Amino acid sequence: MKKTLIKGGQVISMAAGRPDSEHVDLLIENGRIAAIGADLEDQGAEVVDASGKIVMPGMINAHMHTWQTGLRGVAANWSLIEYVHWMHSELASKFTPHDIEIATLAGALNQINCGTTTLADWCHNNPTPDHTDAAIRGLRKSGIRAVYLHGTPHPHDESIDHSEVPHPASEIDRLLRTQFISDDDLLTLGMAILGPHYSTPEVAISDLQLAKDKGLIVSMHQSGGPARSVDGWDRVEAAGVLGPNVNVVHGTDLADDRLHRLVDLGVSFTVTPEIEMTVGHGYSITGRLQNLGTSPSLGIDIESCISGEMLVAARMALAQQRALDHEQARQETGLMAFPLSVTCKDALSWVTVQGAKALGLSDKVGSIEVGKLADLVLIDASPINLWPSHDAIATVLQASVANIDSVMVNGDWRKRHGKLVFGELDVLKSGLFESGARVISEVSFDV
Ligand SMILES: [Zn+2]
Repeated sequence: MKKTLIKGGQVISMAAGRPDSEHVDLLIENGRIAAIGADLEDQGAEVVDASGKIVMPGMINAHMHTWQTGLRGVAANWSLIEYVHWMHSELASKFTPHDIEIATLAGALNQINCGTTTLADWCHNNPTPDHTDAAIRGLRKSGIRAVYLHGTPHPHDESIDHSEVPHPASEIDRLLRTQFISDDDLLTLGMAILGPHYSTPEVAISDLQLAKDKGLIVSMHQSGGPARSVDGWDRVEAAGVLGPNVNVVHGTDLADDRLHRLVDLGVSFTVTPEIEMTVGHGYSITGRLQNLGTSPSLGIDIESCISGEMLVAARMALAQQRALDHEQARQETGLMAFPLSVTCKDALSWVTVQGAKALGLSDKVGSIEVGKLADLVLIDASPINLWPSHDAIATVLQASVANIDSVMVNGDWRKRHGKLVFGELDVLKSGLFESGARVISEVSFDV
């Protein structure tokens, strides 16, 4: 039996009923947390000295289009309108399965590097099953835990309106039969659908019904330009296909009454604050969700525009909500808001327990508890940017990727002493550069 004992660290468990942080040891057995306590016996385990380290649950990136990693930075100055045109109408169609695989592998490895242990890969560039299988191969090679959200394939025939094409049940069946066959798999399958904002109501209802029938997490974007149909959401609500397996990304344009009803149905929400502010989705709905008694999960969205660090996403979400609160209070009272409505611990919960909840993985990951899977991050609090540490959670919110010392997924080290445990990265690096450069070269940006 493989055992690891992590000793001497300051543990932020994010588990209900435990202190915000505590000096306890963690015993890992066969990929699960077997014991938490002071001065645990090693029982023949590999002993890891975590003194000077903060130990926290692996972070959960609940929304990213990992296939865009090879295009890093190309969308850095695009609004949503430009992004939709250049990325989806032009660049996406140039991707071969190899481009998808290498970008997904590199993007997933970078997530591990940044402290993410679970990635929701919202893969909507899968025109063929070969592209789909390539993305899954990239995820598997990285060693990350992932929910592969299979996007509705874009038809090659331009005379076909994408918004009228239902998600193919046959492809979901093929994936369940050939790719997602083990309960112990690091990967689970979900669906990334157009939803009522981007497809006809009939397609949205059909896709949500398919996800419900298959017992899959199903995610959709909400916001952007005008909706495909004015009554899309009304008809979806009336169809009885919404529940906790449904995830809405952004949601910035949802009216208060609709948001309330969706929250009551158990629908989860993922916000991507930096992208929402940058490309024009609007202000994140973090505070609106909190007012309804729930919380968002967080995502990066696109590394073609911004960096992939989930700690940055947490800080962005926190600061943005505080800015909104101050502005509202100033208009009402002439003073800033106090006390602050969202805390550093809230922000940490958005990238851990709330991510697990959105992806249907709450019984497995998101917090450090006996019986849960061992997805952990060790943050080195000894460099100058983090000392002195008086409050472990506040310290984590000041950490950067340079402080992510070690990352464990399912009991296995995927990053150790500041370096990815992967092997040679140079081949991957040059391959990713070549792939991205070739895709970019096939699009004429002067038109
Ligand atoms: Zn997105």
